[in-house]
Amino acid sequence: MEAKLIVDATLVKLGKKLRIVGFDVEIVLSKNVLEILRRGKVEGRLIVTKNSKLFQKARKYGIACVLLRSNDSEEQMHELFLFSKLKPGGSPRCPDCNTRLKPMPKKKVLGKVPLFVFMSHEEFSACERCGRIYWRGSHLRSMETLFKEVKEDGKTGETGERTHIA
Ligand SMILES: [Zn+2]
Repeated sequence: MEAKLIVDATLVKLGKKLRIVGFDVEIVLSKNVLEILRRGKVEGRLIVTKNSKLFQKARKYGIACVLLRSNDSEEQMHELFLFSKLKPGGSPRCPDCNTRLKPMPKKKVLGKVPLFVFMSHEEFSACERCGRIYWRGSHLRSMETLFKEVKEDGKTGETGERTHIA
C-alpha cells in the first residue's frame, strides 16, 4: 500500500520533495496540533514534524508520528527514512498539488518549456491538475541521486526515540 503522510508547517520544503519521490503528502499549515493529530488518525497518515510538542501529543494518543531535527531538507529525508519504515520509489507527484504526474510526449511540450530544456531532454511529465511540466534535471535528477544514496545506505527501518509508529 502506498505510504501517506502529513507534514506540518515546519517541513513544507521536505513535503514537496517527498511528493516528487512519490509519497502522498498533505502539507498542513495549521498550527492547531489537535487538528493535525485528528487528520493523521482519520486519514491514516504518518505525521512528520519538527515540532516536539506535536510529537509528544501524538505519542500520548498513540498516533503515528516521526520527529525530525535537521534544518536541511535533504538531511531531513535521510532522517525520515532512517526513523520510519518508509522507502522511496513511488511514481512522482506534483510538488505543488500532490497529483500523480503523467508522462508527456516530447512533441506536446514544444513551446511550453524553455527551448534549451526542450533540446536537451527526452522525457517530460505533466501535472494534469495544475498544468506544470517537469523534466529530469528540474527536480527529478537530484531526487534520483538521493534515492540511490538512501538505498545504498541500507539503513531504513531503524526505530528509536524519535519514532512512534502506532
Ligand atoms: Zn500540480
